[in-house]
Amino acid sequence: MIHEILPVGPLQCNCSVIGDESTREAMVIDPGDDIADVLAIINKHSLQVKQIVITHAHIDHVGGAMRLRAATGAPILLNHNDYTLLKMLDVQAAWIGMASPGKVEIDHSIAETEKIEAGALVANVLHTPGHTEGSICLYFPVQKKLIAGDTLFAGSIGRTDLPGGSFDKIIDSLHAKLLALPDDTVVVPGHGPVTTIGEERESNPFLKKL
Ligand SMILES: [Zn+2]
Repeated sequence: MIHEILPVGPLQCNCSVIGDESTREAMVIDPGDDIADVLAIINKHSLQVKQIVITHAHIDHVGGAMRLRAATGAPILLNHNDYTLLKMLDVQAAWIGMASPGKVEIDHSIAETEKIEAGALVANVLHTPGHTEGSICLYFPVQKKLIAGDTLFAGSIGRTDLPGGSFDKIIDSLHAKLLALPDDTVVVPGHGPVTTIGEERESNPFLKKL
């Protein structure tokens, strides 16, 4: 598995470029900004992008999606429960004082029953509402790797005070979906350093046994 993690934009969202070493097919997760840098990684590995996956419709995760689609022709995937948030990109841009990326079109709504593939790489979609209603994580069972969006961070969890957020739901999602994964699962959060499920199960203050 080719996997490069590139922090993009003013909020340093972790954009993942994940590719199959033999077929060179790839998916890009959360291309929030800095699309020229994302494309440089794609070109460096001679990858062909098949999917653009958005973990949730916050501007720092989705802001560059249309530019990446224009450059690669790959469809943009988002869970439909975040379509309302996606219509608020102008409002979100004002919150953090950046220019609006304009309208983002979704090609396909991804639901929990689906698998996302790039070559031989297969990711299960985990619907993890809480940070936003349509938040998803991608879990690669063979590689034991989780792309967590803003649901789980090293030592913390996603904020739930923005529109569509729910503390009760994120705690449910974390316990029911993420803590069900093996301890040696590598977790790539939406911001900040990489961690593991075991490390977070042990030391994350939000995941202590109730
Ligand atoms: Zn977010």
